[in-house]
Amino acid sequence: MPGANAGMTSLPRALLLDLDDTILDAHRNPDQAWIGVCREFAGRVGAPSPEALHAAVLESRDWLWGDPERSRRGRLDMTGTRRQIVRRALRRLDLPYSPAGEAMADRFSALRHEAMRLFPDATDTLGRLKDAGVRLGLLTNGNASAQRGKIERFGLEPFFDHIQIEEEFGAGKPEAGVFLHALATLGAEPRQAWMVGDNLEADILGAQQVGIHAIWMDAGRAGLPDGTAVRPDRIIHSLSQLLE
Ligand SMILES: [Mg+2]
Repeated sequence: MPGANAGMTSLPRALLLDLDDTILDAHRNPDQAWIGVCREFAGRVGAPSPEALHAAVLESRDWLWGDPERSRRGRLDMTGTRRQIVRRALRRLDLPYSPAGEAMADRFSALRHEAMRLFPDATDTLGRLKDAGVRLGLLTNGNASAQRGKIERFGLEPFFDHIQIEEEFGAGKPEAGVFLHALATLGAEPRQAWMVGDNLEADILGAQQVGIHAIWMDAGRAGLPDGTAVRPDRIIHSLSQLLE
């Protein structure tokens, strides 16, 4: 799309950003977190071994997040969803879901909460973009209180001209209306906007379908997964690259 990319060396009128794993380092190494939780709880829930419990949890997790509709409902209640993942894992091991199972799921939630950080260059970059006159929009899927809590905890609200959370808005990425509403609020056309996010379907395909320049955040430098047909317009490893 050469026409749409005209002026790529300058900044766009509007920049839409995802929150988790784009501004916040939120979900890296979840497998490692589950290993620790499984070691701690294997005995209490009656699992044959931490390894067996871990394998069952990962299978259950991938089953839940691998389906678009389960994922859509699941992200609106992360605490409940993690309990559901553990409940299903225990059932696979022929174990009952007990208070220990619930404590196990909630321990994982607490660890993820504690581990969450701003990417080191995030607020500096947001400040520079704002100073440069770029209209900033935050587009995040998920539960209103959880996402508002993160925005407040990390002091992100002052950077944004528009904050749009899936549960509050009533629709989430990759629905076209999510992007179009945000741009209308920011007073920008799709060709005047960039979207940055780590999720290839929700952030990249979602933005591209309405003509927004889509930038994939690959913070872990994992590269595009094998077999994906998604082609981001640009790939970055940290937000400060937006200023280059
Ligand atoms: Mg994300």
